[in-house]
Amino acid sequence: MTVGLEFDQLQSSADALRRSISNRLMYGVGKDAVTARPQDWLHAAALAVRDRLVQRWMVTTRRQYDQDAKRVYYLSMEFLIGRTFSNALLALGIYDQMKEALADVGIDMESLIDLEPDAALGNGGLGRLAACFLDSMATLGIPGFGYGIRYDYGMFRQRIVNGEQVEAPDYWLHAGNPWEFPRPEVQYPVHFGGRTVQRDDHVEWIDTQHVNAMAYDTVIPGYATDATNTLRLWSARADEELDLSAFNKGDYQGAVETRNESENVSRLLYPDDSTMAGRELRLRQEYFFVSATMQDLIRRYLRTHSTFGRFSEKVAVHLNDTHPVLAIPELLRLLVDVHHLPWAEAMGHIRRVFSYTNHTLMPEALETWDLELLARLLPRHLQIIFDINAAFLTEASDQGAHDLDLIRRISLVDEFGHRRVRMAYLAIVASHTVNGVSKLHSQLMQRDIFADFARLYPERFTNVTNGITPRRWLAQANPPLARLIDESVGTNWRRDLLELRGLRNLRGDAAFEAAFHAAKRCNKVRLVQRLTQRTGIAFDPDALFDMQVKRIHEYKRQLLNVLHVIVRYNRIRENPQSDWVPRVVLFAGKAASAYRMAKTIIKLINDVAEKVNSDPAVGGRLKVVFVPNYGVSVAELMIPAADLSEQISTAGTEASGTGNMKLALNGALTIGTLDGANIEIGESVGPEHIFIFGHTSDQVDALRASGYRPRQIYEDNAELRTALDQIRTGFFSPGDPARFLDIFHSLVDWGDHYLVMADFAAFIAAQEEVDRRFVDVAGWTASAIENVAGVGQFSSDRAISEYASDIWRVKPLDMG
Ligand SMILES: *Cc1c(COP(=O)(O)O)cnc(C)c1O
Repeated sequence: MTVGLEFDQLQSSADALRRSISNRLMYGVGKDAVTARPQDWLHAAALAVRDRLVQRWMVTTRRQYDQDAKRVYYLSMEFLIGRTFSNALLALGIYDQMKEALADVGIDMESLIDLEPDAALGNGGLGRLAACFLDSMATLGIPGFGYGIRYDYGMFRQRIVNGEQVEAPDYWLHAGNPWEFPRPEVQYPVHFGGRTVQRDDHVEWIDTQHVNAMAYDTVIPGYATDATNTLRLWSARADEELDLSAFNKGDYQGAVETRNESENVSRLLYPDDSTMAGRELRLRQEYFFVSATMQDLIRRYLRTHSTFGRFSEKVAVHLNDTHPVLAIPELLRLLVDVHHLPWAEAMGHIRRVFSYTNHTLMPEALETWDLELLARLLPRHLQIIFDINAAFLTEASDQGAHDLDLIRRISLVDEFGHRRVRMAYLAIVASHTVNGVSKLHSQLMQRDIFADFARLYPERFTNVTNGITPRRWLAQANPPLARLIDESVGTNWRRDLLELRGLRNLRGDAAFEAAFHAAKRCNKVRLVQRLTQRTGIAFDPDALFDMQVKRIHEYKRQLLNVLHVIVRYNRIRENPQSDWVPRVVLFAGKAASAYRMAKTIIKLINDVAEKVNSDPAVGGRLKVVFVPNYGVSVAELMIPAADLSEQISTAGTEASGTGNMKLALNGALTIGTLDGANIEIGESVGPEHIFIFGHTSDQVDALRASGYRPRQIYEDNAELRTALDQIRTGFFSPGDPARFLDIFHSLVDWGDHYLVMADFAAFIAAQEEVDRRFVDVAGWTASAIENVAGVGQFSSDRAISEYASDIWRVKPLDMG
């Protein structure tokens, strides 16, 4: 007779939690209450929470097996998770109990929460989207896995020193990561280099070097459900044998160096999400994680199936942008070379399992890889890509594409100049579905960058507008507003965000409007306190909080915002007696470390801030604040405090945006262009509750085609000219008058690629309208409420439901 395993059933009461924390502190962290530092308490509390998640995780995993569920593999180079502790507490419904349990032992939970480092394995929107999608997949019970890289160093930490960005490494694992489970037993070799040889019936890839990919698993809790998902991240481990051979030759140092070098592949996140790093290591990273992932999904599939017959019924692989596209030739290689499937059958599986999301229309951000580099690093994959290309071009000409020019345009290999593989084209050719991330972006994608493919395969293209998780971006980030909404329309909005529409029934309810205004003010006070602590700048919580928080990039047009600030400053100085609406203009965002212009823009913002903030003539009616180190946790602090959301990209450049959704959900009014999801936000909240300005994407195209002359605008608009001349002549940088010459020239003389000048006048007019509206407190609050009530469709739950039913064809797990 065997004795069964027995587990404690972990309860949610404060008593049970206190007991768990005590046990975890003692047996997990190895400390007692006398020596424990706050960090240790956090670790113990996190482990107590994790234990409760694991219970659910096991249930979900068992159900997936029992139901032989189709699984979604969501492949992304980036997951911008942020902190996990309070998110998990809210998902489990034990936030208050944990707070009480910690208070019982003399610990303030809020201060523990702030000790947790952000898991910042991403640059910006693309990585945060992946994190919101994991949250929604878990909450909806969609059986899914996130797959990515466990970077030792995440997104760099940004400090501002003398107004300039200074980057510091983000060694986020320094205190250990209580949320992950290392799986040393799950390791796959990933090969590079070597050459291929043709055997009788198959190709062999030989003489390679390899590194092992080791799995680390993190549980992703669903909100108020037993369903969970897994984020599996790969870390590079050098092969022991390889080390030993060098070691045995007496080259101890060499053995260690080889080891370090091969483990570099998961060392750091590339600090850029819109321009190609173009580096060999980046290509190695991309192949490293998709190879391990494809090996892992085949292994999992074959555990319950003896042939590949039902492969596409059980597997969906989603490519978050082109970074994971090598998964396509890798899966083909594994099916054909390793599992000996016929090519045609393998290709059939590929086309039934892959789908691809495009995230950018900017040609310079469309990934391509040098043929010579691919040949050296992944010779077998290059052959496979050639084979896919040949079959595709044959198929295309069968469909009537005889035009040589067209064939050259759609070829997976760009033959113009240096030969390169076009990764987006490979993704389109091998996927069953390609989606854009907002209505406008999906249209432009089919009209412009992928026009030839959209004509060949019209049924393949679709739209799924992005979304954000209301759990993190409202429930967790904005407790005062969440509480008010709970009292007004109930608590179910966390699972069905469309329920926020119920707030419309409170139109004209003065008590509700006052409470809403008070909640916003509470968040503004919280932000002022935190920023005054951090930056020493004090400002008035009753001023209009005007916020632009996102990566610093020319297309996002922080410069347009700065120009407005300068014009406002000049107007105040000329007319100090006038009734100025007090404003605090807040910026936050990181610049890619190699992006010089973006870094100069940060410096300009800070120089303008210094001038404006110290000018007694302004008297606090205008403040400019650059908040350092933008990331998920800073966003959670800032966004709930915004009155005005700056979404001012040149129309046609921002694929969707998700910051726009977070801000509207937190009751900020948008000032924005008709770009990305701004258009759909406007449609949802109504034109009278959003400030739309500037050229439409069609007008942008027409203006560029007709010969755009920014210098003319400079000469014709006196206020703009004054502002630009101040930038040019060192008014904001007296110690270094030439500092911003490049900014001036890029706008006035070098073509103003993003049409800042063309939209300037309309932007200023829209800002004047903002002022007029803001002084009507009741009217503004009513509009803010309309924003919250109107943006329910921008929940990532809606987005994931669409992916699940229209693209992945997966059903939620039956949770019994
Ligand atoms: C939402 C989010 C983004 C994306 O913001 P956009 O305004 O859409 O560019 C970037 N970074 C962080 C930390 C975010 O939370």
